[in-house]
Amino acid sequence: MKQRSKPFAEKFMVRPGRRFRLVDCDPGGDGIFADKEEAKVLTAKDAEAIDGLQDRLYAEGKRALLVVLQGIDCSGKDGTVRAVFNTCGPIGVRITAFKAPSAEELAQDYLWRVHKACPPRGFIGIFNRSHYEDVLVVKVRGLASPEAVARRYDEINAFEKHLSGNGTRILKFMLNISKQEQAVRLRERIATPDKRWKFNPGDLEDRKLWNDYMKAYEIALTRCSTSHAPWHVIPADRNWVRNAVISRIVRETLEEMAPQYPQPKDWNPARIKVV
Ligand code: ADP
Repeated sequence: MKQRSKPFAEKFMVRPGRRFRLVDCDPGGDGIFADKEEAKVLTAKDAEAIDGLQDRLYAEGKRALLVVLQGIDCSGKDGTVRAVFNTCGPIGVRITAFKAPSAEELAQDYLWRVHKACPPRGFIGIFNRSHYEDVLVVKVRGLASPEAVARRYDEINAFEKHLSGNGTRILKFMLNISKQEQAVRLRERIATPDKRWKFNPGDLEDRKLWNDYMKAYEIALTRCSTSHAPWHVIPADRNWVRNAVISRIVRETLEEMAPQYPQPKDWNPARIKVV
């Protein structure tokens, strides 16, 4: 009997309920693709397929896909959106970048702004940063009490379960870059006039807290990788590996969801004549 191959995503998935350590994950991603050329061709093909599947998802109008992108500064969140979702037209895709919360947002519970930004049925929603900042930067910088942060993992799991039970498929990606690669990218940002606007001196403060961030990621990924909203750790030191891995997982997931164009219910296309 022909064996069914395992989903590609499984290689990168944080297994729910299992012990997981970030140091065991290689940011380089050697050997996944033959070379840069191959990875780029695959990404372009996947992006085209994602575009077609997104069209079906929109036409079907029954379910949504939420893609969560998390990663330290310079990990390539914007670049991923550009490479993987660029072929999708603006209809049917919603991108939300979560910044430090406004006064209005701080006056509400931390999931309020997140719930509002979730994709409606028929849409792909992309979160560039997300509610996970509320157990990452908030934990590392002590912006909420340790007790409040400790409660959030279960709250987030319940929130994501609620979304998934109501028609939203969830995919979460942690873009895993090495500390050395972040230094290379930060230096490049500072040195390149067109990239300088992206640099914020506060990024260096966060860099000093690298180990605390990695610890916070490890806890969040361990506590919040579930069968209904799995975390994937993506090798992100090379942009082309990162893009090719994520585009394949997104494509695979949409293919599994298999959205269908709706068929006309009360009219027969064969009988209609446009004169
Ligand atoms: P980028 O995502 O491109 O780095 P910014 O440089 O504007 O964009 O960074 C967004 C900032 O907002 C980050 O420093 C991040 O930690 C912060 N942020 C996002 N969500 C929260 C949150 N819930 N609480 C505090 N800070 C947050």
